[in-house]
Amino acid sequence: MTMLAGKRALVTGSTSGIGLAVARALARAGAKVMLNGSRTAGDAEPLRAALAAETGAEVAYTAANLAVPASARALVEAATAAFGGLDILVNNAGIQHVAAVDAFPDDTWDQLMAINVSAVFHTTKAALPGMKEQGWGRIVNIASAHGLVASPFKAPYTASKHAVVGFTKAVALEVAEQGITCNALCPGYVRTPLVEKQVVDQARVHNMAEERVIREVILAAQPTKQFVEADEVAAYVVFLCSDAARSVTGSAPLIDGGWTAR
Ligand code: NAD
Repeated sequence: MTMLAGKRALVTGSTSGIGLAVARALARAGAKVMLNGSRTAGDAEPLRAALAAETGAEVAYTAANLAVPASARALVEAATAAFGGLDILVNNAGIQHVAAVDAFPDDTWDQLMAINVSAVFHTTKAALPGMKEQGWGRIVNIASAHGLVASPFKAPYTASKHAVVGFTKAVALEVAEQGITCNALCPGYVRTPLVEKQVVDQARVHNMAEERVIREVILAAQPTKQFVEADEVAAYVVFLCSDAARSVTGSAPLIDGGWTAR
C-alpha cells in the first residue's frame, strides 16, 4: 500500500497497544514513522528494527516523557529533524487509573492530565507551524468513547478525553482553511496493556473475579460483546490521514462496537 507514501509521521506512545498498531499501519501505508515511548533508544531498538524490516518503511525512535512539556515539544522537533518535516501527528499516549473520585490520588490526577491532555496541546502547538507552512497536515488524537460518555470510577480519565475532543474541534476550526485536519478517534474497549491493568483495577473496586469483570463490567458496555482490535483503530487512522479524508475534520468518530448507541 502506498496511500501515504512520502508522508512523515509521529505516533506518541507507540511501543505497545494501539500506538504500535497505528505506527505499523502508517508504515505499511508507506509513511516514515517516528516511534515514541519512555524506554531508552537501546531498549526500543529491537522493536524499531523489526517494524522497519516488516514494513520496509523508514522507522525511527525517540524516547520522551510526555508528562514533561519540554520533552513533548522536543519529540516533535526530533521527528521533524529526522524526516525533514512532519505531515502526520498521532497523539496516542495515554494513561488510565480507576478509582472513586474521593479516593483518587492528587498526583495521579496531575500525571493523567499532563499525559492525556497537556501533551496533546504541546505536541500540536509544536507541529502546527510546519504543517501550516507546507499547507498539509493530519492530526489524529486517540480520545475514547469516554470522550463522549462517562463511566463511574473514571472521572479523571473521562474529563481528560472530553477535553481532548473539545481541543480537537477548536484546532480543526482554526486550521480548516490550511489543508490541515484534526480529528479525535473514540474507540471502545481495545484489549491492550492499558485495559489489562483496568481489569485488575475494576476487579478490586467491584470486588469481583477478573473474568467476571471482563464479561459483566467491560464487555457489558459493548453490544458486540467483543473487544475492538487495535488494528481496526489503526485502519481508521490511516483513512483519516489520507487525502480521501480531507473534508473529515473536527470530528470524533466512534469505533465502539455500538456502546454509545444505547
Ligand atoms: P497502552 O498502555 O498499551 O499504550 C499507552 C502508550 O502510551 C504506551 O506506549 C506508553 O508507553 C505510552 N505512554 C504512557 N505514558 C507516557 C509518557 N509519560 N510518555 C510517553 N509515552 C507514554 O494503552 P492503549 O490502550 O494502547 O492506549 C493508547 C491510547 O488509546 C490512550 O490514549 C488510551 O486512553 C486510548 N484508548 C484506549 C482504549 C482501550 O480500550 N485500550 C480505548 C479508548 C481509548
